[in-house]
Amino acid sequence: MPLDLATLTLVERPVTKEEGKRILERDAYCCQYCGLDGMASFENALNMSVDFVVPRARKGKKDERNLVACCRSCNLIKGTRVYRNFDEAKAYVLARREELRKGWESAKTTPTKQVAAKAPKSASKTASASVVGSSPLSIRNA
Ligand SMILES: [Zn+2]
Repeated sequence: MPLDLATLTLVERPVTKEEGKRILERDAYCCQYCGLDGMASFENALNMSVDFVVPRARKGKKDERNLVACCRSCNLIKGTRVYRNFDEAKAYVLARREELRKGWESAKTTPTKQVAAKAPKSASKTASASVVGSSPLSIRNA
């Protein structure tokens, strides 16, 4: 029996190849959390795995009702938290994905915004000399 490093408990082996294939086929190779289509590309296919809705480490059963097709990203996001059921897990994963996406988007755009705020002259190409240093909001209000 392998040792689960997160909980230091002995856990039941993950699903076998055949069991995994059966779950993936049942779920049409689509991530049951985000809907990623594992058949759409080789990269997507590599990302598909089978998730224990209730983790094995938390006495989740190796029962088909406790197993869903899941991409590795969702699996990582879902983590080791315990959920009462699949719907609760899905709601958490989707909300967390949205949070991460917003964080990623703002991280992507923040450096540009900071440059514009700290060094207004670099952003003056499209603005007239009189509004250099103003935010777009104050331009609109003027
Ligand atoms: Zn997913």
